[in-house]
Amino acid sequence: MNIGILAVQGAFIEHEQILSRLGASCFEIRQKSDLSRPMDGLIIPGGESTVQGKLLRDLGLFQPLKEKIEAGLPVFGTCAGLLLLARKIENDERRHFATMDIVAVRNAYGRQLGSFSAEAEYDGLGSIPMTFIRAPYIESVGEGVQVLSVVEGHIVAARQKNQLVTAFHPELCDDTTVHRYFLDMIRTNQAID
Ligand code: GLN
Repeated sequence: MNIGILAVQGAFIEHEQILSRLGASCFEIRQKSDLSRPMDGLIIPGGESTVQGKLLRDLGLFQPLKEKIEAGLPVFGTCAGLLLLARKIENDERRHFATMDIVAVRNAYGRQLGSFSAEAEYDGLGSIPMTFIRAPYIESVGEGVQVLSVVEGHIVAARQKNQLVTAFHPELCDDTTVHRYFLDMIRTNQAID
């Protein structure tokens, strides 16, 4: 299994560290030629969605990655990654991949609550620690989107077929539940292929 991690900006190294702890191999995606490598899954890390969106376009990565996601490549977006995948961002007119039928609110917790931690149930797999940093939340989901976690009435993790998003940063905690869930999504996808 080989997982591509978008490495143009943001917290990608922490994802690499968790994947290596779980024994999954990965590589960084920094330019178009990196996309010629076999890729079983894609991680879009946290950071700044506006910066990542611009760099993706400038580097010629945007269209090929969008096509791969639309063709069923398993993708996991954390925080800014969630915003890149969202069909709509309520308080930002920019659209990026827009492949997932969710409406997100950017910087949803305001300035005073820029960063915080919580613990909440994740898809019936138990309660897990969650770190939020200038995080979005999901305001609404379309049909076919499964809600995986809710914190204080707001959706913070969801899945639609091959797409998984979290508003929090599982790569900044010791808990590996969400990454293991993503690896399972990839295995199931390979079994279907
Ligand atoms: N606030 C950032 C954005 O709008 C996301 C923050 C994060 O990824 N930790 O893109």
